[in-house]
Amino acid sequence: MSNNHLQLPSDQDSSGRTLGAEELENLAAALRSGTLTSTKGTFVSQFEKDFASQLGARHGHACSSGTAAIHTAVAAINPDPGDEIITTPITDMGGLTPIIYQGAIPVFADVDPQTCNVTARTIEARISERTKAIVVTHLFGNPCNMGPIMELANAHHIPVIEDCAQSFLTSYNDRYVGTLGTIGCFSLQQGKHITTGEGGVVVTDDEALARRMFLFINKAWGYGDANADHYFVAPNYRMSELQGAVALAQLQKLEWIVTNRVRTADALTSELRGLAGVETPVVTEGAVHTYWKYCLRVDATVIEGGAVGLGAKLREKGIACAPRYIQKPAFSCQVFRDQVTFGDSHWPFTLARPEAVNYDKSLFPGTFEALRDVLVLPWNELYGPEHVDYIAEAVRTSAGELTKTEATAQTLS
Ligand SMILES: *Cc1c(COP(=O)(O)O)cnc(C)c1O
Repeated sequence: MSNNHLQLPSDQDSSGRTLGAEELENLAAALRSGTLTSTKGTFVSQFEKDFASQLGARHGHACSSGTAAIHTAVAAINPDPGDEIITTPITDMGGLTPIIYQGAIPVFADVDPQTCNVTARTIEARISERTKAIVVTHLFGNPCNMGPIMELANAHHIPVIEDCAQSFLTSYNDRYVGTLGTIGCFSLQQGKHITTGEGGVVVTDDEALARRMFLFINKAWGYGDANADHYFVAPNYRMSELQGAVALAQLQKLEWIVTNRVRTADALTSELRGLAGVETPVVTEGAVHTYWKYCLRVDATVIEGGAVGLGAKLREKGIACAPRYIQKPAFSCQVFRDQVTFGDSHWPFTLARPEAVNYDKSLFPGTFEALRDVLVLPWNELYGPEHVDYIAEAVRTSAGELTKTEATAQTLS
């Protein structure tokens, strides 16, 4: 059976990555220069300029990961210990632990079950006097509905950090995400739209925040200042010139990557539209979804076993999909459940309002519904019509096999 599978390009190896001659050429130049630190080299600084200008942001700073990017953004906002940062329970842990490292309390907003994204309504329910920032994650390449979110945030004078790790060149009302809020954060990890293996970028239009972020990435050493000093506690989160060389070449391919992902995703959507029990991605109004992944929503009242059942069938056909995405909400992970932080202190959770760390299921109906129904299909810029057709056929056949008949549906109800 397995010999009949079509091999899908994978973002975990060369079959689904765009690393080639351009990256090699830049890398060789970086190596020959003998300067591998971004404090002296040219590749990282060029990448920062080009990345920011492509998005239409004034400042960009590269760093060592998407997690480092979020950490840098949170540190620039500079919460006091115990301040609250509203975020989402459906995200990468790298979007959350930096909040704890900076002594702030992640406060989870529920999500819209259709998109898995936070909304103005769910965020508003978690705002308190201690809210210092909001982190919105544009999940899978589809943006949060930023109009109402920015209205709410501006009314409360709360800065918004956009986690764009999954949403390169995603736009909302003709503007790129990452430039709608106060700070945008990106990841260049192996499986993102473009990659340096590990890496990250922050962008902002705010001069003072840009300076603070540059300092935070650089041990808070005041490069260029007359009386430079280490101004505050900060790590070394620099990107090396080797990564910068690759990043610069990757950036030139980003538009092509996004165009291909969108075209093939749209083709799959056309092929699957109307299939009973399987819903194609809901795209936020006014948005261009850039498909880091392609998510189906599976109705378990129609499809036997729901997302897990359909996912198992697709995996048998060689499609490495992920039913339930991260399996459980972030607040159900041990780090939050047992507040495992520094020694036995549980700090900074010791400073939290009880309501802020109440993870009762009843507060998160959208989150549990979203994770129950979502089936995440791997997506890639190197998919062609043959891959789309293969996936479409696999989904149709598998869904057909699992569709409950009138009789079984009645027996079950
Ligand atoms: C990948 C990812 C991160 C973390 O980025 P790393 O580069 O892996 O540290 C953060 N948030 C989201 C939404 C991500 O997808």
